[in-house]
Amino acid sequence: MAPISRSEEYDFLVIGGGSGGLGAARRAASRYGQKVAIVEKSGRLGGTCVNVGCVPKKVCWNAAFIAETIHDAAGYGFKLEQKEPFDWTSFKHKRDAYIKRLNAIYERNLDKDSVEYISAHASLLSPNEVVLKAIDGSNETKTIRAKKILIATGGHPQVPSTVPGADLGITSDGFFDIETLPKRVALVGAGYIAVELAGIFNALGSETHLFIRGETVLRKFDPMIQEVLTNHYEKIGIKIHKNSKEFDKVEGTSSGPLLLHRGEGELPIEVDTLLWAIGRKPLVEGLGLETVGIKTSAETGFIQVDEYQNTNIENIYALGDVCGKVELTPVAIAAGRRLAERLFGPEEFSTRKLNYDNIPSVVFAHPEIGTIGMTEPEARVKYGDNDVKVYKTSFVAMYYAMLENKGPTSYKLVCVGPEERVVGLHILGLGSAEMLQGFGVAMKMGATKEDFDNCVAIHPTSAEELVTLT
Ligand SMILES: Cc1cc2nc3c(=O)[nH]c(=O)nc-3n(C[C@H](O)[C@H](O)[C@H](O)COP(=O)(O)OP(=O)(O)OC[C@H]3O[C@@H](n4cnc5c(N)ncnc54)[C@H](O)[C@@H]3O)c2cc1C
Repeated sequence: MAPISRSEEYDFLVIGGGSGGLGAARRAASRYGQKVAIVEKSGRLGGTCVNVGCVPKKVCWNAAFIAETIHDAAGYGFKLEQKEPFDWTSFKHKRDAYIKRLNAIYERNLDKDSVEYISAHASLLSPNEVVLKAIDGSNETKTIRAKKILIATGGHPQVPSTVPGADLGITSDGFFDIETLPKRVALVGAGYIAVELAGIFNALGSETHLFIRGETVLRKFDPMIQEVLTNHYEKIGIKIHKNSKEFDKVEGTSSGPLLLHRGEGELPIEVDTLLWAIGRKPLVEGLGLETVGIKTSAETGFIQVDEYQNTNIENIYALGDVCGKVELTPVAIAAGRRLAERLFGPEEFSTRKLNYDNIPSVVFAHPEIGTIGMTEPEARVKYGDNDVKVYKTSFVAMYYAMLENKGPTSYKLVCVGPEERVVGLHILGLGSAEMLQGFGVAMKMGATKEDFDNCVAIHPTSAEELVTLT
């Protein structure tokens, strides 16, 4: 790590050492020999995904999955006795140590690829100049020049500004700092982050309240997913407060307990931890966007880019969560790599860009959810009812044969046209996360229902139901 920067001028300067920034910087330097630097202000590489997102979240999901498996083991004849409650504190410290190891690996990878890592806050001064401010407390600043600049500064979670006492709650960032598993927790939000974290708390034994504005969670997903998961979450004990209004106020201390005042006629609810999962905003404060005139969306603040990740200012590009298109790690990485290929690669790469259609995504709920392509309502709007054919099934996966409490498994294929091209695939059930990737390849290749049917089933699995739908 350089104290501020080793040079005055670079071919490519990347602001933000997260998924997208790292993807672009490493490709530009390692494959095309560009002089590249990446600026990261948090003191640790990897961005949201590695530090407060996908990676530590999946480790927590694994812990929750083990808790569920221990519970299920009795059904298979195991006599397991849990002598002590789940040790969240040592789990958390071990998880943190794993993340630190990843941070160090990311740093070594940059070194290997000859990307200079600058630990500083960056802000734009002009289309080719960036001011670096040291983050070591020295207040040292330095202005450097770059031929091309990439903004990959990500996003941050929101806390409502209208609820008195809202700051007593935490966000998904704070979730990863929790030292002791709360006995009672309230989450506000119906998106995938709220759903995932609620599932983890519940499986590990916290009394879990989920406050949602509508009737179902995951409102942007196919209705089948919304309904099945909402019902199942209620069945496994998550207290879902539907049609919730904004809290009147939150009272207490940040170390809890907290009283959530819900308005007239509703008793306040007492919890130990309140977690806001109400959406994310682009991280652009102090970035100097106004100084160089970079256009952002008036409504959301996301940086506006074209399909090639060009901003309105020549030689300045943006991608990943700061653009708010599809906020997923592999999307940011893929966009970053393609941008580097387009900018610095051979002539035949001059039109390289990321195709944002048919991006598979997973919700690490309990059970998992996988989804790719259009929901049924979206397909009906786009193609008309007559051209849309839907195949679906719900069944009890064989895993539950020996268990009293059965989890749901529901699959849906949305097909269009006489050839029944599959334009939407939605799966909920054990193993869905691992199943989805292969089906994603098939859909990217334009698979039809007949292609699915022509693939011989793998038995006995849940996935075989997707190639035998009638
Ligand atoms: C709880 C949670 C769970 C998630 N789970 C998943 C998942 O399972 N799968 C998945 O695909 N995605 C998941 N995501 C989303 C994923 O983390 C993001 O889509 C991804 O990290 C976006 O990458 P990015 O490069 O755009 O931004 P980030 O990874 O956020 O990186 C941006 C970096 O820029 C730095 N930065 C910002 N401003 C400046 C500045 N002025 N100067 C220098 N540095 C700056 C920030 O410190 C940060 O390190 C999850 C997100 C959250 C919050």
